[in-house]
Amino acid sequence: MATAWDYAPAPESRDIVRLQERYGLFIGGKFVEPLSGERYTTIDPAREEPLSEVAQANKADVDRAVKAARGAFDGTWSKLRPSERAKYLFRIARILQERAREFAVLESLNGGKPIRESRDVDVPLAAAHFFYYAGWADKLEYAFPNRKPRPIGVAAQIIPWNFPLLMLAWKIAPALAAGNTVVLKPAETTPLSALLFCDVLRQAELPPGVVNIITGDGRTGAEMVAHPGVDKIAFTGSTEVGKAIQRTLAGTGKRLTLELGGKAANIIFDDAPLDQAVEGIINGIYFNQGHVCCAGSRLLVQESIYEATIAKLKRRMRTLRVGDPLDKNTDVGAINSKQQLDKIAALVQSGVDEGAEIYQPPCKLPERGYWFVPTVFTNVAQSYRIAQEEIFGPVLSVLTFRTPDEAIEKANNTPYGLSAGVWTEKGSRILAMAQKLRAGVIWANTYNRFDPASPFGGYKESGFGREGGRHGLEAYVALDDA
Ligand code: NDP
Repeated sequence: MATAWDYAPAPESRDIVRLQERYGLFIGGKFVEPLSGERYTTIDPAREEPLSEVAQANKADVDRAVKAARGAFDGTWSKLRPSERAKYLFRIARILQERAREFAVLESLNGGKPIRESRDVDVPLAAAHFFYYAGWADKLEYAFPNRKPRPIGVAAQIIPWNFPLLMLAWKIAPALAAGNTVVLKPAETTPLSALLFCDVLRQAELPPGVVNIITGDGRTGAEMVAHPGVDKIAFTGSTEVGKAIQRTLAGTGKRLTLELGGKAANIIFDDAPLDQAVEGIINGIYFNQGHVCCAGSRLLVQESIYEATIAKLKRRMRTLRVGDPLDKNTDVGAINSKQQLDKIAALVQSGVDEGAEIYQPPCKLPERGYWFVPTVFTNVAQSYRIAQEEIFGPVLSVLTFRTPDEAIEKANNTPYGLSAGVWTEKGSRILAMAQKLRAGVIWANTYNRFDPASPFGGYKESGFGREGGRHGLEAYVALDDA
């Protein structure tokens, strides 16, 4: 008897998340009303429905947060025994694990990413970062042999909307482990997991003022950068804003790390296991709707396997399920904001206008919310905007090459240098390619894999400084001679 295996939705319940109608700013260990008196609405991008009202911090609010962080630095945190600091970080990690489902649902609700990703990637990795850096807190002298590491002071940390909780963990965990205090601003469109994180801090009984979380748009970020009481800025976001921050800081002596955009090459050689490579291509560009700075957004395929690769890729694209982020079957969720959707649509149109060939699988999109069908462009010239600019959406541009040298030249032909992927069965070729690719992270026969022990960061317009691993501590310590 024939059986129809129809799709049935498997939505995660959102009941576990208890949102407040409005949030204040988390300063000095408690929520306070914004001095600005201003708030804005944060929404669910998959339904275009309001979720909560959050504060728009102004200059006076930023000043208050920086003073709270300074007070905590001088008063408690920098004086605490390192093993005591570690205890708090371990507690935070464990509480994140205990409340993982709540965080995963909230992250998908506010950001639009599939629950499978927030559940299996974002939240576990965020907890793993706190565990990892908890381990370093009382071993800094081993991390920097023959030097005397000491904390820098107050760190202002500004993060984007693509991995809200994970970027928070990347920023806060090393800063605290090294003995600094922080003021962190989540992105305007995705503040809610950072605000829920304040409750984790309360549960962990972190001393007041060690972590302050303030919400607002780019104006708040600019005030944080300009504040004279801040010793270090850590920024992840667009190259344009990164450059503006660098200009503001010139000559101030403040420390800075920038993790900016990317336009990574995912390079497939003709000896690569093709089915696995196609999975790697899909994961490289459609993971998190392509809202990934290290996304494999330029596919470089060796000419002899071009036809076979594209045929397999298109077939695989037809199986991608686009829709409700809270459905456990969903592969590609909602675009984070209307603004980002417009940017993606404009760049895709430029690809069509410049003469590239577009393919989009048949796909029924929900009526409300922000969506973009997974897209691949073939017939792409290196000069096209879709081959040069960061689209930050589910859009792949395919180029071809004949020799390894040509692959390297094309891969490096970009102002960015954040990441790359190499697919081949030859280990020697992987090593040779890795030496010549100007990219901070190079994956071999895999893509978009992250580990707290592994440093991450870019060259050229992708920024400077490393996050993760022992290298990630460097940004948060001053090193005196032993
Ligand atoms: P931004 O660089 O504007 O945002 C990153 C963070 O910086 C946000 O918290 C933002 O606040 C804040 N910010 C904005 N302006 C300033 C400023 N002048 N000084 C200090 N902080 C500021 O990125 P967008 O969200 O506007 O995205 C634009 C493009 O940037 C995307 O299309 C994508 O190409 C790229 N991008 C790259 C990321 C990466 O990880 N490489 C991450 C995010 C974006 P607010 O949320 O209010 O804008």
